[in-house]
Amino acid sequence: MRAPGTLSETQEIVRDNLDYTLFSWSKQKGIHPIAVQRAEGVYLYDHDGKRYLDFSSGLVNVNIGHGNQRVTDAVIRQMQEVSYVTPSFATRSRGELGKMLAGITPGRGQGQAHLNKTLFTVCGATAIENAIKLARLYTGRHKIIARYRAYHGSTYGAMSAGGDPRKLPSDSQQAPGMVHVEDPYCYRCPWNREPSSCHRECVSHIERVIQFEGPGSIAAILMEGESGSSGCIKYPPDYLLKVRALCDRYGILLIADEVMSGFGRTGKWFACELHGVVPDMIATAKGITAGYLPMGALIVSEKIARHFDDKVLWLGLTYSAHPVACAAAVEVLKIYQDEGLIENAARMGRYLEEGVDRLRGEHPCIGDFRNTGLLGCLEIVKDRRTKEPMAPFNGKPEEMAVMNRVSARLTEAGMHTFVRWNYVFIAPPLSITREQIDEGLAMIGDALTIADGYVTE
Ligand code: PLP
Repeated sequence: MRAPGTLSETQEIVRDNLDYTLFSWSKQKGIHPIAVQRAEGVYLYDHDGKRYLDFSSGLVNVNIGHGNQRVTDAVIRQMQEVSYVTPSFATRSRGELGKMLAGITPGRGQGQAHLNKTLFTVCGATAIENAIKLARLYTGRHKIIARYRAYHGSTYGAMSAGGDPRKLPSDSQQAPGMVHVEDPYCYRCPWNREPSSCHRECVSHIERVIQFEGPGSIAAILMEGESGSSGCIKYPPDYLLKVRALCDRYGILLIADEVMSGFGRTGKWFACELHGVVPDMIATAKGITAGYLPMGALIVSEKIARHFDDKVLWLGLTYSAHPVACAAAVEVLKIYQDEGLIENAARMGRYLEEGVDRLRGEHPCIGDFRNTGLLGCLEIVKDRRTKEPMAPFNGKPEEMAVMNRVSARLTEAGMHTFVRWNYVFIAPPLSITREQIDEGLAMIGDALTIADGYVTE
């Protein structure tokens, strides 16, 4: 029992967090973090017992849902055997994980194109950093082509490779050699095309950039397997195949960033499978351990791996192939299979799309919904005809007022999900049920009535 006038347990936790730790991507004053005590399935519970439907799977990583004891048990077993060895040692969990990954990666049965060797990293950004370094080592070229509307992580090279405006405050210190191209953003086509008049200007644009930059200087094209936090900007059919063809024409490597889109998120192990594309490397993280422990991976084709049979691989990290993270990942991969989660993601994705179609009829503020499997994003607009966004790209705090109210209403109703600019993300754990999707869409529908009030049409 606490004495009157003293802080509650929740208030004390929040106070210590705010007083002694720094929170990412925020002004430190005026934030109100939820103090999570426990989590199970698709729900988080705070210290006061309030339940939150986790409609974004943490940071789109807790694909198997929260609190799966199989992972806890696997981690404990590994720790009881050995918690850490340097990456120069072999361990059972590392080998087992590498072999399992080679069994699910693209290019199986395609000889040296098969992505069958993995360098383990500690997160998505370190997977991207190492992909960039490896592409440079392998090709002897320096430049990396990537998209403006893409986030590849917050470390020096990864942040510079992305075009996400979070890099702009430190823009004068960007890593050299990054070249950016426009996105195939069909809802707001940069070339003002409709699907009927589209000649894939988005691809010829990349080819022109390659020629301007000098094909001989370009090591890799880096693209998400399926777009995530930049607004789930879906690739038009054949887009990635055409990009693959450009890579082949100019001797450029294709790196698929499957940090967010990998491990069943889109209804396939890797999103590039949806496009019939085999990249030269996959950089991934998040769903590999479903967020239970930090881990990333850079998976490369046999052709690239063989190149380093007789050459030094100048890459390394203290926590590369951490045995406990590997053990967690092995168990998580088994859970995807045993619980049929990837098939469920595809099924629930279709169910979600039907539900959002109904919401569209009720809420004029919904301009677009782009979804693949369970990686989806609502685009909220003031006017469906002009597509004027409810909040602008990289808007200032005062331009976010309406969307901030939408976000606050969702939290109040008991939902955790991402609201960014005029986007509301929907990316729940792959274990979600129809009833839980209905529950989430009802909360979103209620919150969108706020934005409906600002529709000008
Ligand atoms: N790439 C993509 C597509 C991502 O969405 C993210 C993170 O959200 C990253 C890379 C960076 O991953 P991490 O935060 O684990 O470094």
